[in-house]
Amino acid sequence: MNVANASQGRIRKVVIAGGGTAGWLAGCALSHQFRDQLDITLVESEQIGTVGVGESTVPPIRAFHRFLQIDEQEFLQAVAGTFKLSISFENWRRPGDRFIHPFGTIGQGTWATPFHHFWLDSLRRGMPSDLGDFCLESVASRADRFSLQTQPQVNYAYHFDAGLYAKLLRRKAEAHGLRRVEGKIREVRQHAHDGAVAALVLEDGQVIEGDLFIDCTGFRGLLTEQTLHTGYEDWNEWLPSDRAVAVQTESVGPPVPYTRAIAHEAGWRWHIALQHRVGCGLVFSSRHMSDDEAQSKLLRDVDGPPLRDPWLVPFRSGRRLKAWNKNVVALGLASGFIEPLESTSIHLTISAVVRLIQLFPSDGISPTLVDLYNEVSRQEMEHVRDFIILHYHANQRDEPMWTACREMALPESLAVRLRAWRERAHAWQDPGELFRVDSWTSVLMGQGIQPGAPHPLAAAINDADLRTLLTRLRQPIEQAVATMPSQASFIEQYCKAAPQVWSRGAAVA
Ligand SMILES: Cc1cc2nc3c(=O)[nH]c(=O)nc-3n(C[C@H](O)[C@H](O)[C@H](O)COP(=O)(O)OP(=O)(O)OC[C@H]3O[C@@H](n4cnc5c(N)ncnc54)[C@H](O)[C@@H]3O)c2cc1C
Repeated sequence: MNVANASQGRIRKVVIAGGGTAGWLAGCALSHQFRDQLDITLVESEQIGTVGVGESTVPPIRAFHRFLQIDEQEFLQAVAGTFKLSISFENWRRPGDRFIHPFGTIGQGTWATPFHHFWLDSLRRGMPSDLGDFCLESVASRADRFSLQTQPQVNYAYHFDAGLYAKLLRRKAEAHGLRRVEGKIREVRQHAHDGAVAALVLEDGQVIEGDLFIDCTGFRGLLTEQTLHTGYEDWNEWLPSDRAVAVQTESVGPPVPYTRAIAHEAGWRWHIALQHRVGCGLVFSSRHMSDDEAQSKLLRDVDGPPLRDPWLVPFRSGRRLKAWNKNVVALGLASGFIEPLESTSIHLTISAVVRLIQLFPSDGISPTLVDLYNEVSRQEMEHVRDFIILHYHANQRDEPMWTACREMALPESLAVRLRAWRERAHAWQDPGELFRVDSWTSVLMGQGIQPGAPHPLAAAINDADLRTLLTRLRQPIEQAVATMPSQASFIEQYCKAAPQVWSRGAAVA
């Protein structure tokens, strides 16, 4: 096709700029889905490298892997992966406090009344229990256990080595015909008539033309921002963290089946246990902590000896004003970033790739579909943003950063939710939201926001029946967890990575 007509013409040549997790997710999914219909090229630069973090995920990644026909055991062996049932929030409400945000269903509600209303009513009637007792993933997390053979089954995600994951996706994508080009992009050429991107020019002089470009160049946003000047909406007024210092350490114990998120005076720290090492990082607000302080604190607080020098990752919380602009679709960090808490960035990338495939402009780019794509992308990010803001806002800590978060004006979308919770214990969930009622309830309760009176239907059940219901829900969970092995034993027989895989990962990192 004539590239001069790219914005009106058929899309045959897709060029992906960048080979981090986002670039390879896009490359793998597009080549898997469109095989012979598209000519796909991915350009990446080993000299520039990737952001080197992003190793914790959320459960929908499993559905994506099924779609890509990635076998779970092969995947976990290839990425030295572990299982994630939940996130353990430590010191968030106040120092010394802990709560778990599990991935599974909590209890059993009715179509009108989620379970937490019955549970709140049981507390009112003097039947004390922990909300987590009614969730298999919470109880298994507390016991550090994991199995895929329990009834009921667990809902889970993964921790993996990001470098090894990109390599696995690359192997799959190349097997489906994707062409990888190594090199640094020196220039982005635009069509004179409409400003759409025409070609990437590499430092060695290669010119890579395309009809549709996918910008996966990370925070740089080489195409979407540096070339098209798309614009960025900044969320720093609600999300104070703007830097992280990351490090990888040796494991000093068996891997826990959850991500740890440990709050500190000016942010929080992650701990992601893989089969062969632990990924750690300290997220912080540069207004409240210096880079040197953050690095010293991280090295003081991690459990095991570092495997490499720490590296700094500055970021700016927010979103690109248009995820799709002209013939450029920005994915991954190039399209925006909320922050690492709740590990949603890879999920948002996957969701965007799926949306791109659903709306794929084979016969030409349609402004209607671009607008639709952008609107759904905006809503999706804002939903997640509100959930993350909640974690910062609902605290009882007394350091300056936390006090400011408690006192800040919230986005109206979140303020409404908090009012609904405080007035009538509603943890409202909009259609299509990643975080369900149970997630909102876990964090609202965990962060100590008092709910209003539970739903009147919860009061309709008498004490004896309520007690029986709670026991009937709790007992199978206790029994299932009692039969589960530790995560380490489960991994040993299910998906143990060979040591040569680990050493490849270390080389990548
Ligand atoms: C501190 C931190 C922690 C995070 N933790 C999580 C987490 O736990 N879970 C999660 O889901 N997400 C997490 N994320 C987000 C996650 O890291 C990213 O979504 C993911 O790694 C994808 O990054 P990317 O591919 O968009 O960018 P990058 O990894 O930065 O890749 C950019 C690519 O573009 C290439 N490139 C750039 N410029 C050029 C050029 N001029 N020429 C050629 N190539 C070029 C680079 O070489 C590279 O291949 C975290 C992010 C941060 C900052």
